[in-house]
Amino acid sequence: MAGTVLVSGGSGYIAGETIRQLLANGWTVNTTVRNLSREPELRGQLGGSRQTLRFFAADLMNDAGWAEAAAGCNAVCHMASPFPAGVPKDENELIVPAREGALRALRFAHTAGIRRFVMTSSSAAVAYGHPPSKSHFDEADWTNVDAPGVQPYVKSKTIAEQAARDWVAANAPGMDYCAVCPVLVLGPVESGDFAASVEVVQRLLNGSVPAIPNVGFNVVDLRDIADLHVRALEAPAQLIHGARFIGAAQPFQHFGDVARVLRGSLGPQARKVPKRAMPDWGVRLLSVVMPAARQLIGELGRTRTISSAHAQQVLGWKPRPPEESIVDCARSLIAHGVVKV
Ligand code: NAP
Repeated sequence: MAGTVLVSGGSGYIAGETIRQLLANGWTVNTTVRNLSREPELRGQLGGSRQTLRFFAADLMNDAGWAEAAAGCNAVCHMASPFPAGVPKDENELIVPAREGALRALRFAHTAGIRRFVMTSSSAAVAYGHPPSKSHFDEADWTNVDAPGVQPYVKSKTIAEQAARDWVAANAPGMDYCAVCPVLVLGPVESGDFAASVEVVQRLLNGSVPAIPNVGFNVVDLRDIADLHVRALEAPAQLIHGARFIGAAQPFQHFGDVARVLRGSLGPQARKVPKRAMPDWGVRLLSVVMPAARQLIGELGRTRTISSAHAQQVLGWKPRPPEESIVDCARSLIAHGVVKV
């Protein structure tokens, strides 16, 4: 199945790779950006002709442009959502655009007669706000946004996915809606403009992380998560209707594992990657002066296994090992001059 798909947030890291793969599979892509002045630069990275890749100006918080972007499409891949590296003072800076943007994209899709809607959610909507004793997660799990310490971004993704599901159930139960839930996405960057997830590798490589905190994350490759979105767009309706698909490779990666992979593969280019462990009290101290580090406190010592068995079984998806994503991410950051080694 190929046709015309609206991909929201065409300036994004995951959207870029997804658009490249969709174009390669014969899709025509309508994509939204906040500012049309970015079209020439993005066209250079995404490929496609003026007939196969069209840009529309649209913001998550405003109706303008969405009807034009959705016209003539038979599917939507809704990826745009705020994903900052830091933590805003007011959580609504993330929650409101994430939720309103998802509902806006759904409304305009429904009005345009579009049946297939793939929403990029996140493992943030799956694996947070649970007791520390719970360490295995799958699509049946939902983040508890009312638990103490749940961060604004995590809330924004959970609330947006729940609102989207509720909207579909109430207004368009026949819509072939599903959510893709990536864990931390790493892989090659195409420019110096990339998602906050890549900062994990960037900061280790450029030495701005002074020591290794006792925290970690699950990793999925950019190319594989784009492929999972494409599979969800192209699968028979009965396989995706109402589903969630977690996109995650195994195993869980501690910061120390990532540092070891970088040193083992990059040799002297990884000379700034720290070797010392940061004690937990050091992370707490750091969080006093660096608000972004506050996100790490609830993660200290925690390991989560987030299963992607469902996506593998239903959609035939196969993630590559995290080492490849980490090394390719690092090499591309060096090649683009983002990290000076
Ligand atoms: P990204 O590169 O920061 O992309 C975010 C996109 O959202 C950008 O295109 C951005 O546009 C757009 N956006 C943000 N606020 C907007 C607004 N008010 N109106 C219109 N567009 C807006 O990050 P990404 O990793 O590709 O994220 C894509 C999706 O994947 C997001 O839904 C994110 O939550 C989800 N996700 C990412 C990861 C990860 O590790 N990277 C993991 C799980 C889920 P501008 O360029 O104009 O800012």
